[in-house]
Amino acid sequence: MNDCIFCKIIEKKIPSKIAYEDDKVIAFHDINPQAPVHILIVTKKHFDSIMDITGDDAIEIAHVFSVIQKLAVELGITEKGFRIVNNCGAEGGQTVPHVHFHLLAGRYMQWPPG
Ligand code: AMP
Ligand code: ZN
Repeated sequence: MNDCIFCKIIEKKIPSKIAYEDDKVIAFHDINPQAPVHILIVTKKHFDSIMDITGDDAIEIAHVFSVIQKLAVELGITEKGFRIVNNCGAEGGQTVPHVHFHLLAGRYMQWPPG
């Protein structure tokens, strides 16, 4: 049995506020937003982390970035800017083991991140 929360969102077993969807990717609003815009862009194929992406699967990630571009234009955040984050593993701050990228915008971002 697959207990992955993002797989359940992809299968619509758990509701989410979907911002974009196609055959490879789903993007939905983070349940605990850290900025005025906080969308998660998630591969429909389950990978625990980016470390599990090999060979031809790299195309899934390339597609994620084309979706991010599309969303950024639609959301009108390209001029002011935005941040893309991928947390990988425990020390990287990853809490959901299904590959996803955070799209954050609508405020000044800090550096270094916490
Ligand atoms: P990470 O800590 O990088 O693995 O990111 C996981 C993100 O998923 C966090 O920002 C959570 O707030 C978010 N999250 C967890 N459950 C849900 C959910 N059911 N719907 C939307 N976002 C979620
Ligand atoms: Zn999953």
